[in-house]
Amino acid sequence: LTENNAKPIWHPMAHPAEMRATPPKIIMKGEGVSVTDAEGRTVLDAVGGLWNVNLGYSCDPIKQAMAAQLDALPYYSGFRGTSTGPSIELAYELTEWFAPEGMVRAFFTSGGSDSVETALRLARQYWKIRGQGDRTKFLALKKGYHGTHFGGASVNGNANFRRNYEPLLPGVFHTPAPWTYRNPFDETDPAKLAKLCARAIEEEIAFQGADTIAAFIMEPVLGAGGVIVPHESFMPMVRAICHRHDILLIADEVVTGFGRTGAWAGSRLSGVKPDFMTIAKAITSGYFPLGATLIGAKVADVFEADKTSFGAIGHGYTYSGHPVGCAAGLAALAETKRLALNENAAARGVELGKALEALKAKHQLVGDVRYQGLMAALELVSDRAAKKPADKKTMAAVADAAYGAGVMLRVSGNTVILSPPLVISATDVAKIAEGLDVGLAAAAAA
Ligand code: PMP
Repeated sequence: LTENNAKPIWHPMAHPAEMRATPPKIIMKGEGVSVTDAEGRTVLDAVGGLWNVNLGYSCDPIKQAMAAQLDALPYYSGFRGTSTGPSIELAYELTEWFAPEGMVRAFFTSGGSDSVETALRLARQYWKIRGQGDRTKFLALKKGYHGTHFGGASVNGNANFRRNYEPLLPGVFHTPAPWTYRNPFDETDPAKLAKLCARAIEEEIAFQGADTIAAFIMEPVLGAGGVIVPHESFMPMVRAICHRHDILLIADEVVTGFGRTGAWAGSRLSGVKPDFMTIAKAITSGYFPLGATLIGAKVADVFEADKTSFGAIGHGYTYSGHPVGCAAGLAALAETKRLALNENAAARGVELGKALEALKAKHQLVGDVRYQGLMAALELVSDRAAKKPADKKTMAAVADAAYGAGVMLRVSGNTVILSPPLVISATDVAKIAEGLDVGLAAAAAA
């Protein structure tokens, strides 16, 4: 295997022509929090796979649980009429895990995009059952990321992920994200900005008519959009607005679920009970593609008492409730709890945050740093006063030099995104900061 023979693959979120010019690093092995490429270079994975490998690459309990399940029953469907032991057990585990958020049911999917699609579908169905079939619209935040299916892409709040695929779902409207660094109000105070963003939602609802809106979808901390951390008052305000107008609230917790923010759920940071939660990624720590849409009591009751023709769920996935995936999930969640990874994410997150602030003080390239638990971002700019986004060449130089210094980073637009495994140590945090330091210095010198 060499970097030049990776040609038959088109990679997600990449330009096929660009990938030919800059072939991928081929990852051969993973151990602990590090991965090794085809040339034998071992680097600390500050990306944590893709926000998901919370337990690192050597989690024996997950591997053993998967192997045992492969022996007993490698697959059976969870469609109407059949189920499997691991999927039932995992559904119990998830409703217990997210009981503080009021979740009572789980619908299994193959990943985050499927989970979002399911939540959007169930939200529309809910209103049809209730005789309010005109409630079809969705509201979402600019900069939000909700996966790649047509429904999810429609509620995505980043034009780059939408513009090549239009027309998308009609009736989707976006309101400003509580992003202190760049927002239409020029407001830098997080609490004041939260209020302005909440008011913008109220205005959009008034403009659309509340009785046309099915649901509002948001990430408790916006991940792929650049780790935008709302003030703690924001999500409770959104919850109150949704209550007032009888609009369903979908918390997209694909990244924020299971401890990454320092809390077991992103919604728990501010004590919010959504109507749906979408989860995936860390549910198996990346060892198997699995996701779920969790359903709160208000919605579950309406479906389970339904006497109309609208209650039957008209979609599902071949791998909904895959027994090997659910066995991986049960083992991953048991380890996550045993190691109290929420506490480690919070403690290491504070150290990482301090290190990022120090890098901002040292390097002019760093325009803004944002962090919550072990999700963090550095927004790079070529001119601090004008907040001019750093160019592609600069971003590549940061990532390449950091890789040379033993740290894998992820670059998205002009942002460096960090989402290391939640099992990292204080020494690992220091190593990530060193890698960034080297990367930023190299990019400034280039
Ligand atoms: N929602 C959020 C918040 C995400 O971050 C992602 C993936 N990054 C998705 C949905 C889609 O998940 P998947 O890639 O597993 O389909």
